[in-house]
Amino acid sequence: MELAPGINPEGLLGGTYSPDDGFASPLMSSTAFHQLAMKAGVDFFFNTRIDGISKAKDVVESFQAGGETWSAGLFVNAAGAEAADLASLANIDIPVFPDCHEAGVTEPVQRFMQPMIVDIRPDSESGNYYFYQAGTGQVIFCITPRPQIWGRDKDSTSAFLPLCSRRMLELYPRLRNLKVRRTWRGMYPMTPDGLPIVGYPEGAANFLQAVGMCGQGFMMGPGLGKILAESIVSGGNFEHPAGATPYGFVFDELACSRGFEHVELLK
Ligand SMILES: Cc1cc2nc3c(=O)[nH]c(=O)nc-3n(C[C@H](O)[C@H](O)[C@H](O)COP(=O)(O)OP(=O)(O)OC[C@H]3O[C@@H](n4cnc5c(N)ncnc54)[C@H](O)[C@@H]3O)c2cc1C
Repeated sequence: MELAPGINPEGLLGGTYSPDDGFASPLMSSTAFHQLAMKAGVDFFFNTRIDGISKAKDVVESFQAGGETWSAGLFVNAAGAEAADLASLANIDIPVFPDCHEAGVTEPVQRFMQPMIVDIRPDSESGNYYFYQAGTGQVIFCITPRPQIWGRDKDSTSAFLPLCSRRMLELYPRLRNLKVRRTWRGMYPMTPDGLPIVGYPEGAANFLQAVGMCGQGFMMGPGLGKILAESIVSGGNFEHPAGATPYGFVFDELACSRGFEHVELLK
């Protein structure tokens, strides 16, 4: 109540608060990663789609993009919600499905709440929803539609704002005077068990999959990127995906060949 003054305590059974958590702007952090990568000598080819992959037996030899062919000893699939399409060019079946989610942002106002609030109660039209106030004052919010909406349609819908704002105002009435600046829609790269898929698949021994980040890819991406870079540098391969790093458990639990029988407990 102290951290989120004005929140409606009705039905509140308890909660957790994680004071060391933080947030970051995807725009600013992506720009920073881009600049650091450029300094390290990475080449970027924007607006260039991979539209073909050539294999010899179980090894990827090259890919085609923008009318050119690129060869390498190792390839990484990090194609987000399109990862299954990219893998299929190498005849690899990866269960990553585009799952539509919408978000919104309000005008900036003076800071009045500290934590990100996640209400895990589902109702008939939605699963959980969450909102937080950025250091710059805007409230950012998102809801999990129920049932999930599969597909690649990036157009915002007229249903999102009434649905999400109704639930937010029931929980936190003092948000009612905020003006919404914009909403947008994107896709979670979903897997059947809600966990990423990381490793070398059968049938393409040098095609590392770093896919299926679901709704946590911005948070997990930098850490997973570091682990994968270390595993590649230390000789990770089909037989020993982790290479000489201590991260074997990551690769075991997230392997392409796992059974996918677990279910996400908190959606
Ligand atoms: C509304 C919304 C809210 C979210 N909120 C959060 C959050 O609060 N925290 C969090 O951690 N995550 C959040 N996510 C999830 C997060 O955005 C994703 O998990 C993350 O972006 C996935 O990262 P990625 O690098 O795997 O894929 P992406 O960021 O999607 O990158 C994949 C890239 O591959 C490119 N590509 C695809 N196919 C090809 C091809 N054939 N050739 C060349 N390039 C190709 C694409 O153009 C794209 O640039 C949210 C997502 C949405 C939609």
